[in-house]
Amino acid sequence: MSALSDLLHGAEPAHISGYLWAYLDAASKREIRRALLKAVCVPGHITPFASREMPVARGWGSGGLQVTLATIVASEVVKVIDQGDDESLNARTMRALIGDSTGVETTTDARAATLIQTRHRIPEDDLDDGMVLVFQVPISDPLREFEQRPTAARRMHAEGDYAVIWLGLYEDHSRFSRSRFSHSYPCEVEGGYIISTTPIPRFDVPRLHQAPFLSLFGAGREAAVYAIPPYTDVTPITFTDREFEVESFDTPCAKCGSNESYLTEEIVDGRPALVCSDTAHCRRRQDEEGPQ
Ligand SMILES: [Zn+2]
Repeated sequence: MSALSDLLHGAEPAHISGYLWAYLDAASKREIRRALLKAVCVPGHITPFASREMPVARGWGSGGLQVTLATIVASEVVKVIDQGDDESLNARTMRALIGDSTGVETTTDARAATLIQTRHRIPEDDLDDGMVLVFQVPISDPLREFEQRPTAARRMHAEGDYAVIWLGLYEDHSRFSRSRFSHSYPCEVEGGYIISTTPIPRFDVPRLHQAPFLSLFGAGREAAVYAIPPYTDVTPITFTDREFEVESFDTPCAKCGSNESYLTEEIVDGRPALVCSDTAHCRRRQDEEGPQ
């Protein structure tokens, strides 16, 4: 049998000295976990929590960071992306903070990760049922655009009164023949609450339906979390005669030639070009198949 000290040592890998393991104190982690448990039990319900001051500005992922640090365990392998990119300043600093304060392994390979903290994207790779996705959320409530009074919005959620969202969609289709939602597309979760799918593009929304992974959403500035448990129905709301459409691209990725990934504009060889936003996925395709 292992000595208790060995077990404790194994539970908390070496991390930066002078700070608590995973930065937050135990009471804070417990409080955030309780909020997350409630959020998982009531899918799509916006659950308040006591958002802490973090060493990042609110609006720069402090909510996602708190969710990650409250739920992380020693055996975790962590990936952090910002717009699909592992190397943006936001992603690099988040990854460094999580890695330094816990000592857990970090990776850029989504297939090897067990916990992925993300802003704006779901990785292109297939994610399995052992994974947790933590989303950094700027605006948690899909009603915010239509109803700015939080008490009124809470009542509308409780009563399932989403007429204003439907009316907004109707106006969009009548004026523009399509929905204006390019991101944060409102989706019904398991036939109940309507959630904002954060700033992930419409392209990623179908990935949430019956997803094998657990999705946790953290909004630090708004002190709110919500969740989608694995294998849950997530339905983008639309009229029966108007199909939900995802973004499509006329050209393949200028770097790896993929026709199936979400593309963003980047300067390639001095010219603007469309390339995969998931940089790790794109780099692996280039390594495997050679540059296009
Ligand atoms: Zn690519």
